[in-house]
Amino acid sequence: MRPVERGDQPTDESGKPIRFTKYQEASPYLKERLGRYCSYCEMHLSAGLHVEHIQPKSHHPQYKLDWNNFLLACVHCNSAKGDTDIIAREYYWPDQDNTFRAFEYDADGSIIPHPKLTPQQQRLALKSLELFNLSQNTCSENDPRLLQRREAWEIAKEAYTDLQNGATIRTVKRLAQAKGFWSVWITVFQDNPEMLNLFIQDFPGTCQQCFDQSGKPVKRPCGAL
Ligand SMILES: [Zn+2]
Repeated sequence: MRPVERGDQPTDESGKPIRFTKYQEASPYLKERLGRYCSYCEMHLSAGLHVEHIQPKSHHPQYKLDWNNFLLACVHCNSAKGDTDIIAREYYWPDQDNTFRAFEYDADGSIIPHPKLTPQQQRLALKSLELFNLSQNTCSENDPRLLQRREAWEIAKEAYTDLQNGATIRTVKRLAQAKGFWSVWITVFQDNPEMLNLFIQDFPGTCQQCFDQSGKPVKRPCGAL
């Protein structure tokens, strides 16, 4: 999961914070800040991306229009989470933690809690995957997120070879941005600091403080991970 920063509440032309009257009004600002990617599964979507409430609006109506409670989600992640009432600290969140450190991505499309985490951290990481039906136990074999993530891995591996054979870094970056699944690209290109830094800097909203100069993940300041 890509760690992101949505930034401060958007302002109007006079510099005043915009007070949303419907949560859907936040959608264009979130897409501009974070790119057109699901905040959880990382799928790229040109349509069908919704404003997602971290604290569900049914249980916490006071956060229904709260900018800091918003992320973006695809229909699969959105409906898996539904209006589950959550205790936020029992999960890892892409706007608060370095969620790239929480999981390990594999060629078969699977996501697992990262083996380097402590048992307690692995428990939270698994809970975070299960909340969105992204874990191996809860994700069906036909889940489009799984199939597309597997496809993204294949494309990233091909791009890795193409880069060695003369493709430009800009071409590879654009391919990654069009396909999505940022964590897959970061994993496949883990030994190429130049590409890592491009992915970190040029996918909108990626939390820069979660990575060192060589593109390796570090603990997020104020985050649990
Ligand atoms: Zn999703």
